[in-house]
Amino acid sequence: MGLRPNLLTRRAAGVASTTLALLLSTAAVGVVPAASVLSAAPGASCAEPTDVHSDARVKKGGSAKLDPNELTAKQVRDREADLASALRERANFRAGAGAAPLATVTIPVVVHVIQRDTTRAGGNIPDSLVTAQIDVLNKAYAGTTGGAPTAFGFQLQKVQHVTNAAWYPIVQGSSAERQMKSSLREGGKNTLNLYLGELSDNLLGWATFPTRKLNSMDGVVALSESLPGGTATNYNQGDTGTHEVGHWLNLYHTFQGGCSGSGDSVTDTPAESSPAFQCPTGRDTCTAAGLDPITNFMDYTYDSCMYQFTPGQASRMLTAWNAYRAA
Ligand SMILES: [Zn+2]
Repeated sequence: MGLRPNLLTRRAAGVASTTLALLLSTAAVGVVPAASVLSAAPGASCAEPTDVHSDARVKKGGSAKLDPNELTAKQVRDREADLASALRERANFRAGAGAAPLATVTIPVVVHVIQRDTTRAGGNIPDSLVTAQIDVLNKAYAGTTGGAPTAFGFQLQKVQHVTNAAWYPIVQGSSAERQMKSSLREGGKNTLNLYLGELSDNLLGWATFPTRKLNSMDGVVALSESLPGGTATNYNQGDTGTHEVGHWLNLYHTFQGGCSGSGDSVTDTPAESSPAFQCPTGRDTCTAAGLDPITNFMDYTYDSCMYQFTPGQASRMLTAWNAYRAA
């Protein structure tokens, strides 16, 4: 399966220049199961998993450490049970109040640029990168890059630069991360708080899944140089933001669960046994129908390779919005 023509137009340079790196670095990348990290997460429970992170992708040349919080099968079962329960509660509430589920959603976005000092190397990216990121989100979620349209649009409310060396880099799971978010988070459950900075462990980003009660950790963290025009080679077209917001809207990775079971709980994303890296066209790791969804935003491929959500993912995100994040 080739790239879509409109994708080639948008991203031809990235594809052409990364072919060699693809071949060279494939063997160095692997998955590090981190169930212990998850089971140690404060607040996690069967009834309502809270504060569950899920990371994006490793940087080119980075260490093999990734996915500090890949979900276990049990955690997925718990989350799915919680979603069903939340939907029942919402239906009962609506039967009384008469409020209809939303069909289209504009998400207010508050951006916190975390920096060590006022230099670019110290994290002070120009606001033009932030506005370019919002544009990438709007195009990806509208389906104009080649995928299914979703219900979601994004409206930038505020960009604030925060100079605090203690929060730089942002260390996933640290007390500093908790302090940072507790201090800075704005808005209700419907407000996307996007924290940008240098990140620990060569991570590109991580996000929280939606929960019934607003958690101060709620939000998306992304490498500032992953924004469109940033310096993160192969990962600087803004798709880390798109991927992490997908988690924030309740999507799992396309490789969740591997080849067996309900996978990512979306029926129109073919199963794949493991994350795909770079852009392995034709990859097919499960006997079930369909090639691996390497062009899906919820895989781990290069930004130049991923360009779509499926109708099933769009539906899942809207369902979760009405269960968890709608007013
Ligand atoms: Zn992820």
